[in-house]
Amino acid sequence: MLTTLIIPCYNEEQVLPLFYRSLTETAEELKEKSEFEFIFVNDGSKDRTLELLKELACKDERVTYLSFSRNFGKEAAMFAGLKNAGGDYAAIMDADMQDPPSLLPEMFRIMEEGYDCVATRRVSRVGEPRLRSLGARMFYRIINRISDADIVDGARDFRLMKREMVDAVVAMGEYHRFSKGIFGWVGFRTFWLPYENVERAAGETKWSFWSLLKYSVEGIINFSQAPLAIASWSGIGLTGVSFLMILFIVVRKLMFGDPVAGWPSLACIIVFLGGVQLLCMGIMGQYLAKTYMEVKGRPHYIIGETNRENVTKIS
Ligand code: UDP
Ligand code: MG
Repeated sequence: MLTTLIIPCYNEEQVLPLFYRSLTETAEELKEKSEFEFIFVNDGSKDRTLELLKELACKDERVTYLSFSRNFGKEAAMFAGLKNAGGDYAAIMDADMQDPPSLLPEMFRIMEEGYDCVATRRVSRVGEPRLRSLGARMFYRIINRISDADIVDGARDFRLMKREMVDAVVAMGEYHRFSKGIFGWVGFRTFWLPYENVERAAGETKWSFWSLLKYSVEGIINFSQAPLAIASWSGIGLTGVSFLMILFIVVRKLMFGDPVAGWPSLACIIVFLGGVQLLCMGIMGQYLAKTYMEVKGRPHYIIGETNRENVTKIS
């Protein structure tokens, strides 16, 4: 049996040696159960990551590196890895030790109980900025209420999957990928393995608060049509309100005559309606923009350099 471990790396020169050591230890521990191949995806790093990967590939033939022509993002890196994974099992892991390789033996054991997938979730967010934890919790609450993909709070991308599931995930060829949603959407029997949050071993996170916010909006737009429904319902609601207002004004005019008054309220109403209209147009625009990108059918990633033959270089 062969297991593919996929590691997206973006500017990870500081942790790579450490991570690789712990990876080989785990592979050694598991050697009776499975052989391993390691696919490192260099996502356009600007530091020495690629050189380090080349060195690793020289001394360890299990190592494959796929080096992107520029930074395409972690989603694209995961997609490239899964697309080129040859194993019966595949797992995605971060390079910063936040997805500890030491969990793998336990994950293998659980797979044998008849699951298709063992996914990990953090039960604590120790060491994470407050604002970020709060934002994350709100995001999960919202998206689970309005979308049909079930997305678990604290879920990591670190999961061990069977071939069937990998194929299903790769078959989802959308340009705007939101893996947490895709994994939930494809189904399969999944076991959730809880663990305590581990802080990044070295180097720093690639996610700012804003990039996370953008990513969560992406998730909502990709897996839910609720914002569109909100737009249409607020349109219907406001139309109803405006009828009532017309009625009120006509009746008042008939009963009391109409001294000119009330322009401030009129100004407020106009501004309010203008705002709601722009908001709804914005929501529609978001979906339209996504459609535009999907229709173009651009590749998710471009591999500029690799040490392996027969990889899908553009997809
Ligand atoms: N990563 C990547 N491309 C990017 C950003 C991040 O391949 O554009 C990789 C990064 O090297 C790491 C993983 O994705 O292996 C998770 O990134 P990070 O640790 O910065 O995220 P966090 O754990 O803070 O959410
Ligand atoms: Mg990390």
